Amino acid sequence: MPDILMPKPMQPLVERELSEKFTVHQPFKSEDPEGMIASVKDDIVGIAAGGVDVDDAYLDQFPNLKIIANFGVGYDSIDANACEKRGVIVTNTPDVLTEDVADIAMALLLSTTRELSAAERWLRAGNWEAKGSFPLTRGSLRGRIMGIVGLGRIGKAIAHRAEAFGLTICYHGRSKQDGVAYPYYPSVMALAEACDTLMLVAPGGEETKHMVGESVFEALGPEGIVINIGRGTVIDEAALIKALQDGTILGAGLDVFEEEPHVPEALRKLENTVLLPHVGSASQFTRNAMAQLVVDNLVGWFEKGHPVTPVAETPFPAK
Ligand code: NAP
Repeated sequence: MPDILMPKPMQPLVERELSEKFTVHQPFKSEDPEGMIASVKDDIVGIAAGGVDVDDAYLDQFPNLKIIANFGVGYDSIDANACEKRGVIVTNTPDVLTEDVADIAMALLLSTTRELSAAERWLRAGNWEAKGSFPLTRGSLRGRIMGIVGLGRIGKAIAHRAEAFGLTICYHGRSKQDGVAYPYYPSVMALAEACDTLMLVAPGGEETKHMVGESVFEALGPEGIVINIGRGTVIDEAALIKALQDGTILGAGLDVFEEEPHVPEALRKLENTVLLPHVGSASQFTRNAMAQLVVDNLVGWFEKGHPVTPVAETPFPAK
């Protein structure tokens, strides 16, 4: 049976199904993880990866590696170009998580705009009875224009939901999309000038790092709401904290952060934020579907020579 490395714990489904068809090595269960990896490194042909940083140095360890099956649609922790140069396929888990993530994006938007977390804190603290009604919120969804950065699978599912809520949609990506009627803006800055609600759904990585910072917040203005469901690195977090503190924008709803699981205390102290611990896809239903796709990619590759969902950088079939 081919040897698969599972560097970190994954859904029980992955462990169960892979162990039927592969020899699965789980260093996190060993008292000497590094020694265990060293003892099998030449045998490893596949990696089931969840939250593993893969660069050239990591790849050097596994001379016979053929495939890395990533648990998650975002694969910015994996250097896919380095994998491509070595002929190592990378797969991810698109589509199966789209609807759940879009739901959470809308939940964050509603919670942030109508201050639902603060309102609930008010009730739980006994303030409703002691002090009266929660103050009226400055924010409302009425009349908002949502600028989506990253109108891909999840971005489109968010747009669909936002239209039902009566929002006007526009977007930015690296290029204008054929067959998409929403107005396109060629830069984040131009998008921010045209909208008051910025929905970030772009992938992480060097290309998008800090693409949203001080000038974008200023363009968004004092009624501006920022929602980030994509990757924490897309926002300059220090600039965001300042913009929230001095009223440059109205509020922010964040599911992702620059250095997870660390969330700066300054951000946690702010009342005009809604903060979630990266739960976009975190329902059992969706995580099981993602787990199944990790398994299907590895089985598809080793049994049929074709993974199900290779990433764009490594589209090649079996050699
Ligand atoms: P997708 O279909 O590939 O969409 C990504 C979109 O981002 C594309 O429309 C792409 O448009 C745009 N984009 C890529 N690079 C860009 C750049 N440099 N500047 C501006 N736009 C750029 O991916 P998806 O399935 O919608 O997932 C999107 C991201 O959501 C993932 O990469 C992941 O980071 C994040 N995510 C988060 C959670 C969570 O739990 N919070 C869960 C799942 C996914 P162009 O090609 O036209 O630029």
